[in-house]
Amino acid sequence: MKESENIDDEGDDGFWSGGSFVQSISKEEMEKKNRTIHMKNNEEMDYACKRCKVKISAHNKDWHGGMCDDCFNKEIFSED
Ligand SMILES: [Zn+2]
Repeated sequence: MKESENIDDEGDDGFWSGGSFVQSISKEEMEKKNRTIHMKNNEEMDYACKRCKVKISAHNKDWHGGMCDDCFNKEIFSED
C-alpha cells in the first residue's frame, strides 16, 4: 500500500546523486574534521585560541570554535 517506497527504482546512485545533506560541507572538510574528532585535545597543539591566544589543539580548532576549553565554555554559557 505504500506508494512512496519506490526509491530503488532509479538505480543505485539515486540516493547519493541528490546529496542534499552533503552540500553544506565538502568531503575534504568532513575528512579533516573526522580526523580531529578522535584526537585528544592536547594533540597537535599548533593553533592559538582566537580569544586568549593560548595554544590549542587541532581538535579544539575544529570542534571548539577555534577556542581553548575555557573560552569555549564561556562562549557557550554567556547569556548576556
Ligand atoms: Zn582561550
